[in-house]
Amino acid sequence: MTEVQKEMIRAMRMQGIGYRAIAKSLNLKLNRVELFCKTNGLGGDGRFVRLNHEVWCEHNDRCRMCGKKLEQPRRGRKKKYCSGKCRTTYCRMKKAVERADETEESEHGADT
Ligand SMILES: [Zn+2]
Repeated sequence: MTEVQKEMIRAMRMQGIGYRAIAKSLNLKLNRVELFCKTNGLGGDGRFVRLNHEVWCEHNDRCRMCGKKLEQPRRGRKKKYCSGKCRTTYCRMKKAVERADETEESEHGADT
């Protein structure tokens, strides 16, 4: 599994896309996708992945975007992203997902 694939999985899970659909579109084995998600705080019901993932990242000191381990400062505010780039990408993705949530409220896309 490449870094790009991992990033894609992350982004797709944030949008509530199921393991099967992700595995298919990235041409990966279903159990590999499932394992990656479960060990990276991306498991569970698609609708709650984003929230669960944020909590998981905070708990494990991981960047919300790329999953990289964060070096937390001894004092002051805890970091949420490893870089400004990750922060920007994550915020953009979150907004896109939230917008999609509003317009696709009636559609059933859960495939987990
Ligand atoms: Zn990052």
